[in-house]
This record gives sequence, structure tokens and C-alpha cells, in this order.
Amino acid sequence: MTINTGRFLRINLSSGKTATESVPEKIARDFVGGRGYGIKYLYDELAPNVDPLGEDNKLIILNGVLAGTSAQAASRWMVCTKSPLTGAFARSVCGADFGAWLKFAGYDFIIIEGKAKKPVYIHMTKDSCQILDASELWGKDTKETQEWLKEHHGSNSRAACIGPAGEKLVKYAGIFSDRRTAGRCGTGTVMGSKNLKAITITAQRNVQHHDPEAYKQLAREQVEVIREDRAFQFHKEWGTTCTQDITNEIGIYPVKNFRYGQQVGYEKITGAEYRKFRTGGIGCYSCPANCGKVHKVLEGPYAGATSEGPEYESIWVFTGSIDSTSIEASILADQLCDDLGMDTISAGNAIGFAYELYERGILSKEDTDGLDLSYGNHASMIALIKKIGLREGIGDILAEGVVRAATAIGKGAEAYAMHVKGLEIPAYDPRGTKGMGYNYATSSIGASHCYGYARQDVFGAIEPRMTDRFAEVENADIVIYNQDGTAWKETGVICAFAVGWGWVNNFFGKLLAAARGIDEFADNDYLQRVGERIYTLERLFNIREGFGREQDTLPQRILTEPLHTLEAPGEGQIVSHRDEFLDRYYQLRGWSKEGVPTPERLKELGLTDV
Ligand code: SF4
Repeated sequence: MTINTGRFLRINLSSGKTATESVPEKIARDFVGGRGYGIKYLYDELAPNVDPLGEDNKLIILNGVLAGTSAQAASRWMVCTKSPLTGAFARSVCGADFGAWLKFAGYDFIIIEGKAKKPVYIHMTKDSCQILDASELWGKDTKETQEWLKEHHGSNSRAACIGPAGEKLVKYAGIFSDRRTAGRCGTGTVMGSKNLKAITITAQRNVQHHDPEAYKQLAREQVEVIREDRAFQFHKEWGTTCTQDITNEIGIYPVKNFRYGQQVGYEKITGAEYRKFRTGGIGCYSCPANCGKVHKVLEGPYAGATSEGPEYESIWVFTGSIDSTSIEASILADQLCDDLGMDTISAGNAIGFAYELYERGILSKEDTDGLDLSYGNHASMIALIKKIGLREGIGDILAEGVVRAATAIGKGAEAYAMHVKGLEIPAYDPRGTKGMGYNYATSSIGASHCYGYARQDVFGAIEPRMTDRFAEVENADIVIYNQDGTAWKETGVICAFAVGWGWVNNFFGKLLAAARGIDEFADNDYLQRVGERIYTLERLFNIREGFGREQDTLPQRILTEPLHTLEAPGEGQIVSHRDEFLDRYYQLRGWSKEGVPTPERLKELGLTDV
């Protein structure tokens, strides 16, 4: 029986050595688990300025305290490392079963160090860890890789792997488990740089808690609350495949590389239209939502394409970015990114960037290997995805991410690179949801909507209060509330969607306490402080890497070019008070004018040793 667990496994690919270690009591109390352990160990163990793709970078793969248990929507897992895309702290979250299996093997996390001399994969059980030859796997896509691993290690195994994009060091390659992805920040690129193709775990369900009776009762009550919750029911019905119905309506659906906030011909890509292609739904371990809606194309030039998705971000990036209304093309594009093993947001954003450069004459057909990148041409998008994943021709440049691609292309291309700290911007135009925009600007990893999702702006959430989505400085406290709230919930690691299902405030902390036997975890104020501690340590990591106030910003387009919509209220908006916002945000966080946490605030947070 695995007692929930306090142990981790260190695997050094250079030496081939493995060792099981325990998490000290103080770290367990101060950082709880999941993302807390991720930044704590990365900060302590990574020397400043290491090459993200060098032997000295580390890959930390973590589940949350509640993984592999009867708690709902709490078995996701994450990867923390130094990002090769941004050079900053990276955390990327994934679903499916792998986090639960890691817990069944008896671990809260694994730290992967060094670099194998030739392609390898790791096979773990409760009692063993082997580093095995992966020459048969190298070159296989993510689906083929997982099928091979199941064949060789049995149906009771679960894997996380990279595809060809990770092997070829596409800067935004992800780590995949089933068809779910730790997609952002190039986590798969780091894995590829270590010659590590996959990690597979064979284990049986077996987690025990500090107080099993209390845990069982809390989990039962959590199920009852969730079952009655309208947001859960909506999510179960639709996943995120109709979020575009909301974002297009309110004018924040980015079109043509963030020039417009609404799409002409939008009625062809509504949630109801996507539903016509749906063949089923797939979920993560211990979650009844089955939000991964599977779509299949039955006829036309893309017949046969099938994908667990596209979910909202991928719907957007394969339609709005290139001004296409082809659902069929978006399904194939999503499938190809999953097969090749790369982040749809960064890949699609880079493609949207290339289409704008083509329209402006900065790229010509000679530069694009003969591809016509005129808006609406989805066949060229499909071709570009393959080129990026295999680093062929123009794809080799776009595989570097928009910042490096812009530098390589020159001719003023930088002005059209839509990123924050080097991470490509996702599917919410910051001019129409400034809470999301400032979350992007100040997030530890760059432009991530998940880092502090502005539910108040997008969905009208009323906690902790309602917001005016065009307000800036006034909502600095809400940006912090969302960011720190996400950080403590990711000690879980609970699903970002499940946060809106009405159970978190009453049950999350109590479940943590029953699992681990640390009573303080039942106090939400204690957890909010943990979230701030995590966020602050991530900030210190980034400061050590050379980031500061100057990088807490948004692209020039967002700061100077008015948003255009067809009929939404955001017409003409820009983000215009960055400096005042940062002053207020830093002040509320207890950071200096330069964005550095003050010694007093570090003392309050118990971070005096950094
Ligand atoms: S809501 Fe979806 S992503 Fe979240 S845990 Fe459930 S199935 Fe996974």
C-alpha cells in the first residue's frame, strides 16, 4: 500500500543511477506538493544560467497530493523545468492517467538529470526503475510510441512520451500521455535534449491516506456537490468546444494574428457546428467530465482525420489565426500536432505570424518553400505543421518560436511576433480582457491563460468580486488573486476547469489535510499564502535568470494598435496603463519598483533562505 507519499525518485541519465529520497517535513508544510515542490526543487538544485537544452537542466515531473484517489478532477500532473523557449521557469500541466500511475508507483515526483548517450526510455514499477534502449522507438509518433510501450509492458502501464518534434528539438515540443499534453514552454524539447523518449509506469491502484475514513467521506461529498453544479454539467456536455461562442461574442477571439477580436463567418465554427463532428468523449483519471471531445472528419479532402480535440485553444489557433472557417482542417491540424508532439498554441501562433508576414511581403513564396500563405488557405497550414514538426524548410525557422523566427527573418518581423517573455499568446485578446492581458504580462512562464485565468472578465465570475474587463490598474488585486489561487490549487494538482465546479473552497484543503495529516492544509488562508510563496519563488527564479520589470509587458500591437471587432463593445481598446498597473501590482505583492520581492515580504513568506 502506498501511503500518500512524501517520496520522490531521482534518475540520472548520464550515470544511470537512481535513488529514492524523502521530502523533508518543512518543505512538505511550506510547499504542499505539485507545483510547490516543482519550483522549490528547481530553484534549489538548478544553477543560474544553465543551458535549458544542456546536461545540467533538470526535468521534474510531478503529480499532486490528491492524485490516484477517489477525489474528482485532481489527478492531473505537471512538468517543471527551465524553458528552452523562454529561458524562464516553465510549468506545464497534463491530464490522462499518468499522474495517478506515478502515485501508484509510490512517488510524488521524479527528477530527471543528465543526458543519456543514446535514445532511452524509463520503465518504472513500485520496486524498480530501469533505463532501457529506445532505438526502436526513436522516430515514432506519440501514438505509435504509446502503443509500442503498452505492447511491451502490459495494459496496466501508462506512459508519457515525446514525438518527432521533441526529438528534433522543436522549441515548443510537448510531453504527451494518451492524447493529452504538457504542451507549453518546450517541456518535450528538454526531454528530447536528454535523449529520453518516454517514461512508462506499470503499477496497481493502491493509495492510502493519513485519515482514510475522513478522506472517503470528503470525496463522497465532493462528488455530490459537483454532480449538482451547472458549470460541471455544461463542461461535461461541451468540454471547451464552445468557448468560442463566448469569446467571439464579446470580441476577444483573436483573428489574423491579433488584429481583430471577432471572425467573419464565425457561424461556421460555433460549438454546435463542431458538435456535428463529435464521436465521443474521453476524460482523465477519476473525473466524470470526459471533456476531451473526440472529432472525426468523414468526407472531403481531410476525410479520416480524427482527434481528441480540438479543444478551445486549438479551435482558435487553427481557425482565427489564419482566418479559416474549416472545422475539418482544424481537426487534422490538431491531430498532426498531437502525433508529432508539439504545443498547438505555439505552433498555430507561429503559423498565424507567418501568414501576416506573407501578407505584408516580408515572406514570399520563395521563403515558404512555395506555399501560398494567403489568409484562409488551410491546406498551407497543414503543410506548415508537418514542416515545423520535422524541421523542414521554413518549418525549421518557425520551430524556433516567434521571437527567434522574427530575428532570423528580419525586415521588421519582430513587430508581428505575438508573445510574452518568448511564449506565444493564447486565445484571449488582452485588449478585451485586460485581466487576462496583465496575467500574461506578469506570469512566471510568459503568456499563459492558465496561470491566472481571468474568469471574472470572461465568464462574469463574481469571486472575489466582479470586474470591468476593460479596467486596468483597478484590477491588479484580481490578477494576483487569480495567479496565487492557481498556484495553490496546483499543489493538488486539480484541473483548471474543475476550479469552477463549486467544491474547491469547501473541500480541497480538507482533502489535502486528510491525505497528508497536516492540519494547516484545511485552512484556505494558509493555502493562499502557500500560493503566494510559490509565485514569489518563481519570480526569484526568473530574476536570477535576468528577467525583471522590462519583461513584464505585452507586444507593441496590444499596447498601441486599437482592437477591431465587428460589433462587440471592445472596438478601439488598447492596453494603455502598463506602468501604473505594474506599480500597483508590485506594491500589492510587496515587491520593489523594479519588481523584486522585498526582504520584508520574503521574511513574511518564510523565504529568508533565498
Ligand atoms: S475536466 Fe477534463 S481536463 Fe479536467 S480533469 Fe476532467 S477530463 Fe481532465
